[in-house]
Amino acid sequence: MTATIFDIVRNSFVDGPGIRTTVFFKGCNLKCVWCHNPESQDFKPQMMFYQDKCKGCVKCKEICPTPDRCTLCRKCTLYCPVDARKVCGKEYTADEVFAEIIKDKAFYDNSNGGVTFSGGECMLQIDFLLEILKKCKENGIHTAVDTAGYIPFESLEKILPYTDLFLYDIKCFDNEKHKKYVGVENELILENLKKLFHANAKIWIRIPVISGINDSLQEMQCIKNFLFAYGKPEKIELLPYHAMGENKYAAIGRDVQRFIPPDNNKLKELKDIF
Ligand code: SF4
Ligand code: SF4
Repeated sequence: MTATIFDIVRNSFVDGPGIRTTVFFKGCNLKCVWCHNPESQDFKPQMMFYQDKCKGCVKCKEICPTPDRCTLCRKCTLYCPVDARKVCGKEYTADEVFAEIIKDKAFYDNSNGGVTFSGGECMLQIDFLLEILKKCKENGIHTAVDTAGYIPFESLEKILPYTDLFLYDIKCFDNEKHKKYVGVENELILENLKKLFHANAKIWIRIPVISGINDSLQEMQCIKNFLFAYGKPEKIELLPYHAMGENKYAAIGRDVQRFIPPDNNKLKELKDIF
């Protein structure tokens, strides 16, 4: 069995406790307009071309075996002197992913860290995820799953016994806004979260904060009321919007929508609610 992975990042401190390796699965069933990893949304591997880096040396054109139709053979990415071309996404077996994860076992053990599976939406390649989670647990590695929760609850049930921590996103409580900015309604996401609480899963809630979309006191109060009515998250993280993914939109040939990051006072005000 294989999965399409678009990045494996070692020494991460932001995707759960301790030092972690984060494995990013390609493909997502949401379309958040502020997504800072737009290359994660398509399930298939794709070419990314950074026009601003390109020096116009045409080495890529000279080396390409099929100039009329890119087959993602990756040759040009090896020859480009300035890394202006990159193929995003590669098929991995569970053994190959595990070989990367196990390299940092000593760091996980010394920092109470582990591995985090993220994306895209890693739950959409559920059989592979289950296999790699089992492998990690057999080897004493702490496991976290970062999900937006728009998946059948049966998938969450499958991985529950092998998942030490869920990083669970709530984007908007207002369903109309959710539909408009995320592309789907939020009922399934909230229902799954209730069920996860009921199953006594360990959960960190992550809320992206986007100015003018979900940064009102009322919105955050609604999220808080929901959370504390149904469970007790171990942690709630507010993640301020940042523009670091902007150049990736052009690299995959898409237009970018720009948002304003919330200022520190606003963030503090929102954090105080929790
Ligand atoms: S990935 Fe291969 S086929 Fe595609 S442009 Fe580069 S060299 Fe050509
Ligand atoms: S090899 Fe790289 S720098 Fe040269 S033309 Fe191609 S993309 Fe641009």
